[in-house]
Amino acid sequence: MANQQEATPDFERRRERLFRELRERKVGNLLVTCPYNVTYLTGFTGEDSFLFVSEDCTYLISDSRYDEQIGEECPDLELVLRPNTMPIIEAAAKEFRQRATAPVWVESMTTSLAQWEKLVELMPANACVTSRGAVEKLREKKDAIELAAIERAIEYAQRSFVATCALMHEDQTEKNVADELEIGIRRQGGAGAAFKTIVGVGPRAALPHGRPCAMKLGEAGFVLIDWGAKENLYLSDLTRVVITGKVTSKLEKIYRTVLEAQLAAIAAIRPGVMMSEIDAIARCVIDRAGFGKKFTHGLGHSFGLQIHETIRLARGQDRPLETDMVLTVEPGIYLPGFGGVRIEDDILVTKTGHRVLSSLPKDWDAVRNSPNATT
Ligand code: ZN
Ligand code: ZN
Repeated sequence: MANQQEATPDFERRRERLFRELRERKVGNLLVTCPYNVTYLTGFTGEDSFLFVSEDCTYLISDSRYDEQIGEECPDLELVLRPNTMPIIEAAAKEFRQRATAPVWVESMTTSLAQWEKLVELMPANACVTSRGAVEKLREKKDAIELAAIERAIEYAQRSFVATCALMHEDQTEKNVADELEIGIRRQGGAGAAFKTIVGVGPRAALPHGRPCAMKLGEAGFVLIDWGAKENLYLSDLTRVVITGKVTSKLEKIYRTVLEAQLAAIAAIRPGVMMSEIDAIARCVIDRAGFGKKFTHGLGHSFGLQIHETIRLARGQDRPLETDMVLTVEPGIYLPGFGGVRIEDDILVTKTGHRVLSSLPKDWDAVRNSPNATT
């Protein structure tokens, strides 16, 4: 497996793509305040730093805590170090005034209202404009380096899952399982969990986002686990149901329905197909089986540096899929009092269709015959 140090993303190329996007939007420059966007465009992984980009100049506004790190992570970038006593938005305003930069477009999703008010106060009248989603749009399509990082994150998550399942026992609590998974990810080489691990035993699996508690595996026949790994920067996101006791026909029925829905949706993934259509394909299978009202969330989402990025496979998302998008497909059926089944895999949209990046077994027979199941 390639070492993450071997290949460095071409940040200049990413910024070139951003300029193209900004030109299309008739946006002359951008104050990037989202830390993930700053990382994406520069390689800098610290916090409390803004990036200003325009076709004439690009500079990072940071403070002395990050001086050395910036030297290592993005040595070619112009750096503006603010005094520790000066709020970052004031340092940005000062820089804009000195360089006579106006108007300034500011990322609206991550700039706080207080920062915006301060900037408007310090800048000439009508010199501040908001801009939304330009870098997020670039991040929708993953390049080869990002894809390799996501594949590592998937590998760490999968290996940790296999190791955790091998040691499962009936006295283990949901929290124990979550802890084991997270430690396992670190042992495999990952940075930690991609998000708060969900472990739901039996009826608690009916809560799509339940927090692990003291319920023990032995208290029901199955457990739902939704987890992911963070490699260095990039994430993965998977869900599996593990049989831990006696299998019921009801569980088998909902499991088979969810799996059929997931496989049908994945099979339809290719460039040009509407995101809403992929969601509808899964929903149709679940509807037909009589569980339509029990599939209470969207089918999937894009992820990468963040666990939920801009794309949604859901009703009303009338946008076509494009090559190099990476998304989850995760239909679910939740029956209060009984439990729930969700199956989640990570999918890459390719030129000719798709590639399923995750590979943990999910056929009913494989799940049914897991070592912990009793007949
Ligand atoms: Zn998930
Ligand atoms: Zn997910």
